[in-house]
Amino acid sequence: MTESNVGILALQGDVTENFMATMAALHDAGMDATVSQVKTPDQISKLDGLIIPGGESTMMGQLSMVNGAMNALKEIIDGGTPVFGICAGMILLSKNSTDRVMGSTEQPLLDILDVEIERNSFGRQKDSFQAEISLDPIGISSFQGVFIRAPAILTSGSNVEVLSKFNEKIIAVKQGNILATSFHPELTQDISLHKHFVEMIKESN
Ligand code: GLN
Repeated sequence: MTESNVGILALQGDVTENFMATMAALHDAGMDATVSQVKTPDQISKLDGLIIPGGESTMMGQLSMVNGAMNALKEIIDGGTPVFGICAGMILLSKNSTDRVMGSTEQPLLDILDVEIERNSFGRQKDSFQAEISLDPIGISSFQGVFIRAPAILTSGSNVEVLSKFNEKIIAVKQGNILATSFHPELTQDISLHKHFVEMIKESN
């Protein structure tokens, strides 16, 4: 098998933590892969797997429009490349998003993940918290969820598998080649979700 090329979208957000967690997960899975920070359409088009990190989804969407990354992202995701959207990354992947307080934000979205998102669903920065959650459908019975200005999924399409809920709100899903979480697995020492993602890359190769 040729070496996989895994990218972390590095327009904005917590790129380094995802880089480290992905390296550790690939090592654990015994996979031969390179991990790089990507920004340009050309870099994005060559990937076998991509993480869109947490950060600020409005900013990330606007930057992706400006440098042409938006179309490149759509193309690889539609083409079946595994992608892991974390927090702001999950928002960017979605078809529909509103803010809990501000309502419509008219932000650029990739319009692929068939969910309706509520941004800042658990409150603002001061309401950030950690909670033990589980993702039983993918064999993770306990995971420490780090929620920072976290979004939640209010409704999801029939093609979307719900992986986890917290306080009745959907916080992790899978739709074909897309994995998405409201919380930040890269901010814990537990690499099991990143490991699940690199296994998705392995299977798609
Ligand atoms: N609330 C942020 C947004 O809407 C996401 C927060 C995060 O990624 N930690 O973009």
